[in-house]
Amino acid sequence: MELISGNQIAADIIAELKQEVSALSGRPPCLALVRVGDDPASVSYVKKKEKTAAEIGVTSRIILPPESISQGELEALIDELNADPDVDGILVQSPLPGELDELAIFRRVLPTKDVDGFHTLNLGKIAQEDETGFASCTPAGIMEMLARSDVDLRGKHVVVVGRSLIVGKPVALLALQKKAGANATVTICHSATADLPALTRQADVLIAAIGRAHFVTKDMVKPGAVVIDVGINRMPDASRKSGYRLVGDVEFDGVAPLTAKITPVPGGVGPMTVAMLMKNTIKAHRLSSLSG
Ligand code: NDP
Repeated sequence: MELISGNQIAADIIAELKQEVSALSGRPPCLALVRVGDDPASVSYVKKKEKTAAEIGVTSRIILPPESISQGELEALIDELNADPDVDGILVQSPLPGELDELAIFRRVLPTKDVDGFHTLNLGKIAQEDETGFASCTPAGIMEMLARSDVDLRGKHVVVVGRSLIVGKPVALLALQKKAGANATVTICHSATADLPALTRQADVLIAAIGRAHFVTKDMVKPGAVVIDVGINRMPDASRKSGYRLVGDVEFDGVAPLTAKITPVPGGVGPMTVAMLMKNTIKAHRLSSLSG
């Protein structure tokens, strides 16, 4: 079994991006990070994104509206960022609190600044294999991670558990694309799938994006499979200062010995997501400089 280190692969990408940014003339790429309210997980995700941006030389603009912000006010804020020529990318940290309509906010972001890849147009561009779009960061990170770990998906059976717009559907579309590194046969499973273990056991590459701790157990995995664990779940742990530890959707200790390659949690897909956000921001900056 080989452990796929997202930490290492993301560090390599970040070093490459840092070089790319240092070679740019003019103002550096700028990412606006909008975090509504003080959800602790969102606070730590935004901090991590800000820190990585600084490391690469990407300017970040942090905007922290209160939880009481209305839908209209948040949309007006997005409109301002859309119109600001000094902002290349806009990320609205998910989940949004309360009654705010997240999908409407994602759609409000100009597609050319939608570095999270959540806008309808960018999701459509993945389906059309149009490289001018932005693939959402976690799915793009998974593809990059597989490519850099010498896992060629061509002809392989990829089984994705989860059909969210953020992970499951876009990663399935990317694996399906008719291009080098992809070209897989893809099955997408969800909560209404009948006999899920029978399907996951057919996977050459199993991608778990469910959001349930230790959901995938060893009886669900084919020996020799590659397993990508997207899940980030908080498990109570009194021995930790935080009171919890992060675990994936895969029951790692039981499953890992069976696999050819597997990602850990933490240190797997998570760091790749942040690296791909930076990659998208630099791409947005490049495309906006080209369009003048
Ligand atoms: P969602 O809750 O949006 O989607 C979960 C999916 O899992 C749904 O499609 C749901 O099916 C499916 N599911 C739930 N229960 C079952 C079940 N018993 N059997 C089969 N399918 C089931 O989650 P996300 O896609 O946003 O996130 C998934 C996980 O990935 C979470 O742990 C999240 O924290 C993590 N994540 C990690 C990221 C990273 O950077 N590493 C980034 C984004 C997410 P149905 O559609 O039928 O409800």
